[in-house]
Amino acid sequence: MDLGLKGKVAVITGGSVGIGLAVAEALAGEGVDLVLCARQEARVVEKANDIAARYGVRAVGIQADVSRADDIARLVGDIERTFGGADILINNAGTGSEEKILDAPDEKWQYYWDLHVMAAVRLSRSLAPLMRSRGGGVILNNASICATQPLGYEPIYNTTKAALVMFSKCLANELIPFNIRVNTVNPGLVLTPDWRKTAELLTKDTDMTPDAYLEKIAVDNAPIGRFATPEEVADFFVFLCSPRASYSVGSTYYVDGGWLNVTT
Ligand code: NDP
Repeated sequence: MDLGLKGKVAVITGGSVGIGLAVAEALAGEGVDLVLCARQEARVVEKANDIAARYGVRAVGIQADVSRADDIARLVGDIERTFGGADILINNAGTGSEEKILDAPDEKWQYYWDLHVMAAVRLSRSLAPLMRSRGGGVILNNASICATQPLGYEPIYNTTKAALVMFSKCLANELIPFNIRVNTVNPGLVLTPDWRKTAELLTKDTDMTPDAYLEKIAVDNAPIGRFATPEEVADFFVFLCSPRASYSVGSTYYVDGGWLNVTT
């Protein structure tokens, strides 16, 4: 299937590892030029250079903390100078939390609000006009199954991801007249290096191996009985970026191996 993406420019937040990196590789495989951003400069620059060399696309890695308005303004300036704008924005940077609502301070709520919601608001507000002047575009927000089906230990994560889903729906309605399609992807369990690290940490000095720990989580939760690979989720993102997904607007797609219990 020709996905019709060759020569497009995509911005991926959190593009240096995990799902964001897998989306970057999959888009590069379709001939898409890339801007990857993350907080750790060395890693994001190395990954961008590696992708550029292996796929023959233009790829730049830019240090930016997307929870900060000033970093986003600088990032957008760099995008404009390098590529003159963008056709695709993937709001992917994010991370889990762990707290009790009664204990968590305002600052923690604010950080996750800025990371999961305001980053998408600010980047969309800056890049959508540039997409419009290029004839249209695609914005994908990476939320989580937790936006609908909360995990008990991370109420701030659940709440801010749910807000991201609603933001995405509102933005979709506002931007579709300009041929900009906005959608959300809600992944379930995706085996990123971070999950492996957690498994190693939690099974240290126990009888369980990290692999057995991960398998138990998957079997206990997802009917498919395993984690997704980042690549499996990335392929779904790439399809949604493509004009082949032209009627997909304002939707939330679960990629969760059957984990979602309720229908919405
Ligand atoms: P990883 O922890 O593997 O990667 C996160 C990426 O985001 C890294 O590139 C990291 O780089 C970057 N990042 C983190 N914080 C910031 C920040 N403040 N500013 C800029 N970049 C940042 O995450 P995953 O691939 O697991 O997750 C990606 C997205 O998918 C997240 O939004 C997550 O909530 C969501 N998701 C993940 C699931 C999973 O099972 N893995 C399931 C459901 C949703 P650096 O540290 O250098 O900043």
